Amino acid sequence: MGRIRVLSDQVANKIAAGEVVERPASVVKELLENSLDAGATHLRIEVDGGGSRLIRVADNGCGMLRDDALLAFERHATSKLSSVAGLDSIATLGFRGEALPSIAAVSRLVLETRSGDEDTGMRVEAAAGRLLRAEEAAMAVGTTVTVRDLFYSVPARRKFLRSEQTELAHIASLATQYSLAHPGKTFLLRSGANELLHVTAVGDWRERVYQIFGGRVLEELVDLGLRRKEIAAAGGGAEEGARLLQLSGLVSRPQVQRLNRNSIFLFVNGRLIRDRLLMHALSSAYHNLMPAACYPFALLFLECDCREVDVNVHPAKTEVRFRCGSLVHDFVRDSIRAVLMESRPAAVASSPPVAAVSLDAPQAAATLPFSEFTQRLEAAPGLEAPSGLASGEPAGPLPEVTLPAAAAAPTPAAVRMRVPDTHRGFPEGDFAAGLPSLTALADLRPLGQLHDSFIVAAGRDGLWIVDQHVAHERILFEQILRSRASGRMEMQRLLMPIVVELTPAQQVEFARIASELQASGFDAEPFGQRTVAVKAAPAGVAAADVEKILFEILETAEQEPRGLSLNDLRRVVAASIACRAAIKVNTPLERSKMEWLLAALAATDCPMSCPHGRPVALCYANRDILRGFHRI
Ligand code: ADP
Ligand code: MG
Repeated sequence: MGRIRVLSDQVANKIAAGEVVERPASVVKELLENSLDAGATHLRIEVDGGGSRLIRVADNGCGMLRDDALLAFERHATSKLSSVAGLDSIATLGFRGEALPSIAAVSRLVLETRSGDEDTGMRVEAAAGRLLRAEEAAMAVGTTVTVRDLFYSVPARRKFLRSEQTELAHIASLATQYSLAHPGKTFLLRSGANELLHVTAVGDWRERVYQIFGGRVLEELVDLGLRRKEIAAAGGGAEEGARLLQLSGLVSRPQVQRLNRNSIFLFVNGRLIRDRLLMHALSSAYHNLMPAACYPFALLFLECDCREVDVNVHPAKTEVRFRCGSLVHDFVRDSIRAVLMESRPAAVASSPPVAAVSLDAPQAAATLPFSEFTQRLEAAPGLEAPSGLASGEPAGPLPEVTLPAAAAAPTPAAVRMRVPDTHRGFPEGDFAAGLPSLTALADLRPLGQLHDSFIVAAGRDGLWIVDQHVAHERILFEQILRSRASGRMEMQRLLMPIVVELTPAQQVEFARIASELQASGFDAEPFGQRTVAVKAAPAGVAAADVEKILFEILETAEQEPRGLSLNDLRRVVAASIACRAAIKVNTPLERSKMEWLLAALAATDCPMSCPHGRPVALCYANRDILRGFHRI
């Protein structure tokens, strides 16, 4: 007997389901898309247990005829596509007829639906891919799909689910994104008794952005208006005429720099997608306006003839392929670039450092993703490699500057250097050998400041330039971590509580890290539906910075798909506080302050880079100085 056997339908179902239904959020996505395809204007999502216990999506769309309600569970049963030719021009979000059977194959599903054309509706129950019951039911026009115990029949998949909070955060951001694309519809998301999102129908995207993110974010955005471009139809068929490409939406000013892509929302013909081509077009539009490791906020809607885009590329329909990819890419890039240039915010040139990143800083100053930063720490315990060297980015503005690559053995007392007198034909001396060592920091003599921002100091290894902000940041970072470890974080009461508005995904994140925030000196508690009130903050943090720090922490935590470990979270919190509390650049410093700063820096564990991975000190080595003057 042969070994190969044809899989039973039941098994085949589960395999296919694995592609469409990856996690609770994919169920929510399929159900929301069905509701939108059905023309619903009210969409209500209820979840429990991060979606793995319960997902219910109820809509007031067109509903299904009773007979269709049963048919909908057949694989490849769809009302949206009838022929292969139709695949070339899909105008609906769904088309494969796979979602309902795939979800039903891995859960206990109840479909309740009624079409406006019939007086009664239908209730269909299925579990693990089998229809259990179908009966008439009295209900209003519309559809409610209830999915319980996701993956209960596929324990192996269940094991791959992340924590409830993580899955919930995915669902929350998905619901948020769909609500952004459909401002004219009402969306409600509830997790247990918590209402995470409730937005009623409004006139346009701007109002929706306001509902979700608040006025502050809206002020930072530039409206693209309606950008158009005509492209020739395939084969240049004159009879078809030109096809129109349209772009609209909102993008942030270059000063608004996010550390992850979570604030980029891309829609092609109303479909939420993750597309490399469009992502690339967006970052090219910001090229040189923003450090490479930062991302803007963007809400982009690209509309085109559905024959111009193939949506049948990915099982979850999150990727698309354009017929004229490079044309679409350039159109999107140029449109955004043009808007940014037209509205050129004056602050680009004179902007103060934002977060840990300054706009006019060299590439090496760009923030590293946190995980990369921790990896480096792990790779070299006790010493972080200067970001410029490790990542192959330019090391800094001075072409000949050498960054120490590793700690050298401590040298005894400071050595006096005798500059070779070339007139007497000195050979290459001792001082020309060896690279500067960070132990030299201990005996640096400050000479003054460059641009009130960089401490210039003489040392036995050469001339040092120390970034006063990042140096202080490093000092504070280690100090905060020590205080936190010993449970002695200093807190200061704020005169007035600061009320911070959170997006649904941020609320979830906030709940997850609330106790760590508290222990780190933030006395913050939920206040109203999507806001928290901060009553106390860590000592040294200005009230004006509290909100920024909170957002920064939430953003970094959010970006880690598996959730940050407690250790990493503490580092994120400490880094964020340190950055805000540290001496700023463009601050004149007295000599005693400079001496204190250098001594404190020398006493840190990792004086060579700031918590975000930027270099703290550059050394112009003796050897290079001597070479520069042709003395060796
Ligand atoms: P697809 O969306 O690809 O057609 P689905 O399995 O998601 O496949 O749905 C199968 C069919 O069930 C749809 O084509 C549609 O006719 C019907 N349907 C599913 N959900 C709804 C809904 N919320 N309202 C009305 N009809 C629905
Ligand atoms: Mg569908």
